[in-house]
Amino acid sequence: MSSSALSYVHPTTDSPWGTYLAQVDRVVPYLGKLDRWVETLKRPKRSLIVDVPIEMDDGSIAHFEGYRVQHNLSRGPGKGGVRFHPDVTLEEVMALSAWMTVKCAAVNLPYGGAKGGIRVDPKKLSRTELEKVTRRYTSEIGLIIGPHSDIPAPDVNTNGQIMAWMMDTYSMNVGATATGVVTGKPIHLGGSLGRVKATGRGVFVTGREAARRLGLKLEGARVAVQGFGNVGSVAAELFAQAGAKVVAVQDHTGTLVNDKGFDVAALISHSQSQGGIAGFHSGEQVGNDEFWNVHCDVLIPAALEGQLTAERARKLSARLVLEGANGPTVPEADDILAERGVLVVPDVICNAGGVTVSYFEWVQDFSSFFWSEEEIYQRLDRIMVGALDNIWEKSTQHGITLRTATFAVACERILIAREERGLYP
Ligand code: NAD
Repeated sequence: MSSSALSYVHPTTDSPWGTYLAQVDRVVPYLGKLDRWVETLKRPKRSLIVDVPIEMDDGSIAHFEGYRVQHNLSRGPGKGGVRFHPDVTLEEVMALSAWMTVKCAAVNLPYGGAKGGIRVDPKKLSRTELEKVTRRYTSEIGLIIGPHSDIPAPDVNTNGQIMAWMMDTYSMNVGATATGVVTGKPIHLGGSLGRVKATGRGVFVTGREAARRLGLKLEGARVAVQGFGNVGSVAAELFAQAGAKVVAVQDHTGTLVNDKGFDVAALISHSQSQGGIAGFHSGEQVGNDEFWNVHCDVLIPAALEGQLTAERARKLSARLVLEGANGPTVPEADDILAERGVLVVPDVICNAGGVTVSYFEWVQDFSSFFWSEEEIYQRLDRIMVGALDNIWEKSTQHGITLRTATFAVACERILIAREERGLYP
């Protein structure tokens, strides 16, 4: 029976879950005899929907819908972030959890994949309301999360403070401090040095390696970044430090272009203090669609899913796309980019730096022994470069895109684990 038969989802080709299913279909020819297990990848192991009621500051009662999906736990506990966004759906969280399964296997971390979310606009909540939503959600999903079962982390609109509240709530409920239940925590609560910049750093490191193979010099390269939050801003900063020019930036407040290249450090500080890039003193504000026409060598989509559509892929000038976001490229656009010779470093390897340092954090929490930032970055860079080498080899060997190669490497690891564990009963 095909996965489209899941009664509670209705994926379209461009929806995140539909995109993920199409990516799995493409890898089947490279799975050999493991292909008999492939349906496993098309079904989340466990999906929890929870009601999150809170008393608002004005005395009214508000209800928000929350989710936690554990896609696959064959290789270890579930791992994946929690997203607070008004448009979050179960289907989106399913796709994000599945990409976590693939990502963790692609960089060979001993984790399965999971993801969570709440349908809420956190920008409309007071700090007290945000804390209540976070704590109630954590209690509700407390049934299935834990340091040995499923470990949440930050994602869009969640951060170290939210992880601290989640850790505290879970700890209160189990009666002991359990730092290992979430990662991306503040440093003095068992967080890891380097975690905040890890995803953006991973985007830069895989981008640098891919650019080297393309013969594209970073010095003077023109970079466009969509999404200027945790991932996009750090990646932009590292590219600028390597001599590239960040010529276009887009976030939820608008699009800025600057042919000479932005002062990225100043743009970050403006964006942090003003809640977005709009109003920055240099560069020109243009319409949002203009972003996709800007002449650039490297494009970093680091906002949300489904941004790189077929139409945008046709006119893109970049030679290299670094997927900081999860699922930014729809399958049709993927084909167009491949035909046009544009190299895409897919999300499931490109943005794996965050979960890699999350893994370091979890290991450090268990041993209560913490590493220096230098050690973290050395280990991170080694893992990212090694994983990309491996995937590059697979891609060259079969003449397939880096995305299909990453899925091939990862799905083989996941399905071998599934087969070795066997089905119970
Ligand atoms: P964030 O909340 O820090 O930043 C999100 C950015 O996207 C903001 O600049 C926001 O303004 C922008 N944005 C939102 N809607 C937009 C729109 N419609 N058009 C343009 N820009 C828009 O989130 P983040 O942690 O940087 O995550 C960004 C992406 O990276 C997500 O897809 C996330 O799943 C993925 N990711 C994050 C991590 C991590 O460690 N934070 C790890 C792996 C993948």
